[in-house]
Amino acid sequence: MHELYLAMCVEQNLPEIYKIKKCTYNKEFVTEFNLSFGYPKSDTCATCDAGNSNEEHVLNYHAAIEAMATDRNKPKEDIGLLYLTVDLQQTMPLPKILTSKAFYLRQIWFYNLGIHVVDQTKQKAVCCTWTEDVADRGSVEVASSLLRFVEVDQSCRNKHHLVIWSDSCAGQNKNFNIQSCTNT
Ligand SMILES: [Zn+2]
Repeated sequence: MHELYLAMCVEQNLPEIYKIKKCTYNKEFVTEFNLSFGYPKSDTCATCDAGNSNEEHVLNYHAAIEAMATDRNKPKEDIGLLYLTVDLQQTMPLPKILTSKAFYLRQIWFYNLGIHVVDQTKQKAVCCTWTEDVADRGSVEVASSLLRFVEVDQSCRNKHHLVIWSDSCAGQNKNFNIQSCTNT
């Protein structure tokens, strides 16, 4: 951006005083404007990334966001309903050390199924964690974690309905094992 700014100064024949250093440009940009920089997005939509988005696609996207928000508010009206969002987090290597040698050595993978729980009065996060020597990270493990959560977590007591939102990963969330687990 600083380079583009300098190019613009040359293009518009602005006086030398306008040709500021990068650090000054950065300072002005950060302190005088309500703008910020973010990291590149992850887990983006393949259709939108390919530039194939159309009106129907955008409508479906907004409908899904709206349906999620509606479900999230349901526990406020119904004490017997529990709302969950679940996602298997990116795998983490253990131990977490920055030494370059460690990058090339075999490290054990640590898995975490994050469950975000919303009931009538509160929200909380539950982590179901295990390492690769204990179990894999497929649909069976995700189903087991969910089942265990339902069996032991206090927030599941006296509930007649469970609303679960997840991404549509076929190997982990969107399959027969999860269907069987959530129907029992
Ligand atoms: Zn999209």
